[in-house]
Amino acid sequence: MKLRRRAFLGGLAGLALTTPLAAQTLGGGGDRSQALRVLLGRGSVEPIPGGFLFAGNRYRGNYRILADGRVVNEVDFDEYLASVVPSEMSASWPAAALEAQAICSRGFILARSNPNRPYDVVPSELAQVYRGVESEEPASTAAVRATSGMVLRYANGFAQIEYSSCCGGYSESSADAWGAAPIPYLVAHPCPYCTASPEYRWRAKLGAADLSEGAGQLAPQIGVLEEVTFLDFDRSGRARSVALSGVANVARISASQFRIDVGARKLPSLLVRRQKNLLAPGTQAFAGLHIEGRGLGHGVGLCQWGARGYALAKGSAEEILSFYFVGTSIGRI
Ligand SMILES: [Zn+2]
Repeated sequence: MKLRRRAFLGGLAGLALTTPLAAQTLGGGGDRSQALRVLLGRGSVEPIPGGFLFAGNRYRGNYRILADGRVVNEVDFDEYLASVVPSEMSASWPAAALEAQAICSRGFILARSNPNRPYDVVPSELAQVYRGVESEEPASTAAVRATSGMVLRYANGFAQIEYSSCCGGYSESSADAWGAAPIPYLVAHPCPYCTASPEYRWRAKLGAADLSEGAGQLAPQIGVLEEVTFLDFDRSGRARSVALSGVANVARISASQFRIDVGARKLPSLLVRRQKNLLAPGTQAFAGLHIEGRGLGHGVGLCQWGARGYALAKGSAEEILSFYFVGTSIGRI
């Protein structure tokens, strides 16, 4: 089982399964093949019983210092998950939602681990905060333990895991979101469970200065920005393009790129329901954009607020996952 897990790390990363991974990653000696190797970075290290202190935080497991001085934490996979799952989802949420999140996080991490480096994962690459023991919460730890070794499977392989905060009532297909080949279980469909999210409906005002700066970088040929228009709405209702109209020209750019440029917090999602270009009082000068929309994040895969709502409606983790990843099933690593 332990070797299979290590091989799985390589398999998902698309790397050679014939590589002697255990010897390569563990530096010889000791059976620590269940350990995930997490790059912490540079900082002071102090051993303590059951773990060590790094940059003032307490971590479980062992550590290793690479030749360049960076510190790697060798930690039991579930102990790592126990630390990061509360950063992904509030530990106050129902157990079934936390269990669904734990299964998703496990698959997400495995798919992004890379056995050809002296560490499997870099928390920042995963958009995960890893502060060790300090982040652990009893309810999240219980969810990790209850789902130990469980991952989502599809056909003969492992399912691609995606999740975001709130889909705004309609999940997004991976193909529409990223322009990639369709994935049968990452499809757009209504989600009735996330209405309690504070971001289920939102209003945003984007100022002319911010928009003009972004437009100047994305489409300098348009000249001074005069109007922004969301276009090409997909099946889920998300805009896939944005037209930037300037005094000299009009440019059509990717809406996803536009959201990155504006900032994901300023523009919570591309599920834009209404928009209005604003003019400065008494002039015809562009003053910004008022938008009403729904959801927070890309909307592909698990809707976390939806998982909460489904769990409150007595759904199990398995039911939640088969709703958001249509046709998948829970399997083992
Ligand atoms: Zn939702």
